[in-house]
Formats: sequence, C-alpha cells, structure tokens
Amino acid sequence: MSVDTERVKVAVRDLLAAIGEDPSREGLRETPRRVASMFEELFGGMDEDPGRHLTVTFAAEHDEMVMVRDIPFASFCEHHLVPFIGRTHVAYIPAEDGRITGLSKLARLVDGYARRLQVQERMTTQIAESIEKALAPRGVLVVVEAEHLCMSMRGVKKPGTLTVTSSVRGLFRRDPATRAEAMQFLHGGR
Ligand code: ZN
Repeated sequence: MSVDTERVKVAVRDLLAAIGEDPSREGLRETPRRVASMFEELFGGMDEDPGRHLTVTFAAEHDEMVMVRDIPFASFCEHHLVPFIGRTHVAYIPAEDGRITGLSKLARLVDGYARRLQVQERMTTQIAESIEKALAPRGVLVVVEAEHLCMSMRGVKKPGTLTVTSSVRGLFRRDPATRAEAMQFLHGGR
C-alpha cells in the first residue's frame, strides 16, 4: 500500500495538537502538507521489491570480488519514527558464470530497502538476501554503519555513535582469508 497523504495530513495535525502545539499557528500551518509529501518520498520503497533493480549482466571474465563502499542511505527507525542515517558497503564474489550487476544497481537496492520503516539488522539481511537471490554469488558481505537519531537525541545521548551490522554469506563466511581480504578493502584508504 502506498502513502495516503490526506490521512497523513490529518494525523500530523492531530499529533501536533497532542504534543500541546497549536496546529493553526503560522509556522505549523503547512507542516502537515510538508510531512505528507516528505513521507511519500521517504516511504516510497514500501510497495516495491528493491531486488528488481538487480538486473543481471553476464561478464564471464570477472570472477574476483566486487566491492562497493560507502553507499549512503537514510532510513526510518520503526521503533521511534526518527531517521537513522549511514553507509552501506557491499561485497560479493560472482558465481562461476561471472554473473554481475551494475554498480549503480546496488545503490538502488540499498535505497529501496531504506525507503520504508526499518530496523538496521533487517535491512542488512534483506540486502544480502536480495543479492544472493539475483546473482547466486559464491559469497556476499554486507556491512551497514549508521547513526540512529533515536539514540543520539535521547536516552544515552551519544551523538556520532555508529551501530554496525553485517550479513556474511558463502565464501566470506567459510573462508577466513577471503573475509579478511574483504575487510581490508572495506577499511582501505581511511
Ligand atoms: Zn529507534
């Protein structure tokens, strides 16, 4: 189901009143409309299958690791309805037939899973599973690093703290040397 903007507007107006604000004061008058159109964009990934971006290219000559580092994303914590923002690193070792995908497709995949209510652990797994399904690679490694505003703004209040999650499959899981090589690439040049 896609975002019902009229309903969002009503709900935001209610929410403003509920926290003791006056939704009719000048600064807030347009807020429900702005939030509704922002939600349309931010939650637009909900009714799509991000895996559809992974169009497959056959390039049999490439059977070494492919890594795309620092794919930026912004998502929404489903427990607190505030953003978590960070970067995703994706590595995979193509199947024997050299099945690969375009580098920009991986960024679209990440974006698709970010544009919905999420928890970071699930997003990490979904990205890895999607790559596994589309490319049948010999190994997949997905690392997500993010700052959760629900942590930075309240409670422990430690701005800048990064939560790191990973999903490690196939060769990257079985072979420590391959995993070490990927980790080295991941931290290289920093
Ligand atoms: Zn949260």
